[in-house]
Amino acid sequence: MAVGVLALQGDVREHLHALAAAGQCAAPVRTAAQLEAVDALIIPGGESTTIINLLHAFGMTGRLTELLRGGMPVWGTCAGMIVLAAEVLDPRPAPLRLLDIAVRRNAYGRQVASFEAYLEVEELGPTPFRGIFIRAPAVERVGRGVQVVAALPDGRPVAVRQGSMLATAFHPELTGDLRFHRYFCTFRPDSAGTDGGGEDGR
Ligand code: GLN
Repeated sequence: MAVGVLALQGDVREHLHALAAAGQCAAPVRTAAQLEAVDALIIPGGESTTIINLLHAFGMTGRLTELLRGGMPVWGTCAGMIVLAAEVLDPRPAPLRLLDIAVRRNAYGRQVASFEAYLEVEELGPTPFRGIFIRAPAVERVGRGVQVVAALPDGRPVAVRQGSMLATAFHPELTGDLRFHRYFCTFRPDSAGTDGGGEDGR
C-alpha cells in the first residue's frame, strides 16, 4: 500500500519522514494523476485556505473528492482537518464537506498560538500521545457517524474518525511518535464510501 501526502503546501516533508520511519511506502502528491497512484492520502497541516485554493488551481478538487467519497482512506492534520470538514465556522475557506464535523479555525487564539497536551488515545494503547497544537482548529460539532478518538481534558474533541477518514487538530508528524501514522496505515478503503453519511440527508 502506498500512502500519498498532498504536497501543495504545509508540512509535507515531516509526514513523509514519519511514514518512512514507520516502514510505509510514501509519496508526495502534487497532481491529479499522482492521486491515482496512491491507496491512501494525508492532507498535512499548513494553511487551509491556501491548500484549498491550490487544489482548485491545479484542477484536483473533483477527482480528490470522488476518490474520498469512494472510500479511499484519508487523514487530515490541522489544516487538513479543516479541508475535510463538512462545515467551517468562518467566512473562508469552503471545505470539501466530507467529514461530518464543524470546525472553527484558530480557535485557541492567535497570541497563545501553540500548546501541547498529553492525550489519552485508546486506539494507541495506554501511553498518552503528545499532541502539538499550532493555531489549531476546534471541533465544534461532531456528527452521529463520527467517533471521537481523542479529546482534551475539558472534553473538546481533537481527533475524530468517520469510516476511513481520520482528522486530528494536532500534529503527530512533529513528535517522532509514529503511533498515529501506524494507526492510519491500518485503515482500508471504506466500501460504503461516505455516501449516506456526511452532508447527505441534511
Ligand atoms: N490555522 C491554520 C488554518 O486555519 C491551520 C494551522 C496548522 O495547520 N497548523 O488553516
